[in-house]
Amino acid sequence: MTHKRTGRVLLIYTGGTIGMGISPATGALEPLDFAHLITQMPEFAAIPTGIDVHPFDAPIDSSDMTPERWAQIVQIITGLYDNYDGFVVLHGTDTMAFTAAALSFMLENLTKPVVLTGSQLPINQLRTDGKENLITSIEIAAATDSHGHPRVPEVSIYFNGHLLRGNRSTKINSEGFDAFESFNCHHLADAGVNISYYDHHILRPDFERPLTPHFAMDTNLAVFTLFPGIKEATVRALLETPGLRSVVLRTYGSGNAPQQPWLLDALTEANGRGIVMVNITQCAAGTIEMARYGGGFLLQHAGVISGHDSTVECAVAKLMHLQGHSTDTDFVRRQMSRALCGEITVA
Ligand code: ASP
Repeated sequence: MTHKRTGRVLLIYTGGTIGMGISPATGALEPLDFAHLITQMPEFAAIPTGIDVHPFDAPIDSSDMTPERWAQIVQIITGLYDNYDGFVVLHGTDTMAFTAAALSFMLENLTKPVVLTGSQLPINQLRTDGKENLITSIEIAAATDSHGHPRVPEVSIYFNGHLLRGNRSTKINSEGFDAFESFNCHHLADAGVNISYYDHHILRPDFERPLTPHFAMDTNLAVFTLFPGIKEATVRALLETPGLRSVVLRTYGSGNAPQQPWLLDALTEANGRGIVMVNITQCAAGTIEMARYGGGFLLQHAGVISGHDSTVECAVAKLMHLQGHSTDTDFVRRQMSRALCGEITVA
């Protein structure tokens, strides 16, 4: 099978280290004019793909990413969807996994590649990882299969030789170039001398259906990590937060919690008030099996639902998306138990 590499790709530059330079005033990294930066680099002139750059008006460190800015990215992609074969979103690594997960829900029935990438060192530094990350992301975003369909028609993260499903990815390293992994999902591709695509792990959308963008996100949720000795007052204060609609509960192992009557009572009461509580493991890999131990069984009894093998980033983004679209708690709970775009493994 031969794979063409042609077409047009839109680079959406949101900010992040990849496009930063050292400020002479403060010595800290700050965003530069990315379009200008890459036109200075001979490597980019050699890329056979047509590239346009759409920068954010004010590029950001991704620590400042917000659901409103996700909506801005969705708006850009939707508005220019027919003009491009694929999209590369340049993004800081800190919240890239959240953005990738959010975009996967906001871009329903996506039929074109949306590849997020960035770098640990600015692209104009000698040892940068940014050039390879960007150049390969562009190649992946433009790649088509033997039927002329996009090779990877889903939201993904490309970093340090690996293409990962966006809503399965986690930042695992604040310093190393190997900054992302998707522990519960096979890589979509690995890049070495050649790019090896794992086609049977890549989503196949219905290419006849139109893209349906979603913009509403409701952020009335909390993430709460259990630890030995956690206080009842802390748990109750969190569960009684005004306006709270859901909680991502980060439990031990396969979904266990201390078998304390006060915890069970607090969770049961919250469930009675319509708060959706989703059980996610604190482990980097593996899934929730609440019936396996007594502590997990009690959580189930209190109304906590399984988050299966979701990442925390994905559970947060999915809850925001579902809550943004429905006030029906049962609907949110049902959708949390289904894979909408490959984000969880359900038997
Ligand atoms: N703080 C930066 C950001 O997330 C780090 C990076 O780009 O890797 O925007």
